[in-house]
Amino acid sequence: MIPAFTYEANPAHVVFGDGTVEQVSTEAARLFASKVLVLTTPQQAEQGEAVRKILGDAGVGLFARAAMHTPVDVTEAAMKEVERLGVDCVLAIGGGSTTGLAKAIAYRTDLPQIAIPTTYAGSEMTPILGQTDGGRKTTIRDPKVLPESVIYDVDLTLGLPPGLSVTSGMNAMAHAVEALYAQNGNPVLRVFAEMGIRHLASSLPTIARSPDDRDTRREALFGAWLCALCLGSSSIALHHKLCHVLGGSFNLPHAETHTIILPHAVAYNAPAVPDAMAAMTRALGSDDPAGALYDLAKDMDAPVALADVGMEAADVDKATEILLENYFWNPQPLVAARIRDLLADAVAGRRPSRAG
Ligand code: NAD
Repeated sequence: MIPAFTYEANPAHVVFGDGTVEQVSTEAARLFASKVLVLTTPQQAEQGEAVRKILGDAGVGLFARAAMHTPVDVTEAAMKEVERLGVDCVLAIGGGSTTGLAKAIAYRTDLPQIAIPTTYAGSEMTPILGQTDGGRKTTIRDPKVLPESVIYDVDLTLGLPPGLSVTSGMNAMAHAVEALYAQNGNPVLRVFAEMGIRHLASSLPTIARSPDDRDTRREALFGAWLCALCLGSSSIALHHKLCHVLGGSFNLPHAETHTIILPHAVAYNAPAVPDAMAAMTRALGSDDPAGALYDLAKDMDAPVALADVGMEAADVDKATEILLENYFWNPQPLVAARIRDLLADAVAGRRPSRAG
């Protein structure tokens, strides 16, 4: 039976395919933009320069200093370029860090954005901005930060290293998993979520072995888009809240942390969300979704232990305390002792038990 529900769609113009970056001038024209500032990380400056060339006269500048967690001092430096060049549009080409910088500029100026994602993180489809100031991370939800135009180009993902492809893909799956049991979940998002998980679970193992397999990359990027739609329209719970604490307060790497926590968060919530577990069972082809997610990561040589990405067993109590400082909704009651167990298992890299 279809339940009563509400569904909020985020307006964005999406172009998906191979070689679609060539359409960037059409997208700029659609936004009436004639002075575009291209944003990248230092590592992707060359890709940014190539896009600037495609834009021709409209590509008025390149700012190649985007950094993880959107530090406010970097945004302020970029704002100086925005003002100096009198730009009327910002374009982010890169992963969530670069998209975050474009969003931070849009938050301050309301300038339109073009996002060209080159990872599977999914920030391009969300009205969410996370930024850091003096080591503190805050999150804002505002329609102003949602990119107006998103260009998914399979070609640009071919060079994403296999290790980052795998963890970034697992990061995307986490968005879909939490949409399956979100407090504001609905049947529309659950269709996107199940399909997103299925496409990523089926494509990531091939990408880990053959990162330049174009058909598989196309499937993964499509799956990542579906998962990003889920994050953009649904509320989050234990998994994302925990990753936020681990990234923000313990400086753990974003995609790897999502990869490690996901099986444990699924096991924790499993008893409370039978319909979500049934959807994951279909998508993953296993009646033990938490174990299957752990095995998937391990088989692709992704990290499965927080100890391997910088967390110590001694940090477990502090992380639990920070997590539970502010109330948030979760389908399963949040019990400090059980969160500590979850984290201890994740630090040690133990496979989550079937019973949760
Ligand atoms: P990232 O953007 O930090 O990229 C990691 C590294 O990979 C960078 O050096 C980048 O230049 C490089 N890279 C990216 N694509 C590449 C490619 N195709 N080829 C070669 N190198 C490439 O990593 P991420 O995981 O995409 O993003 C993480 C950040 O995004 C975090 O700060 C996270 O909080 C944020 N995020 C925000 C949202 C949101 O909705 N606000 C959603 C997801 C992630």
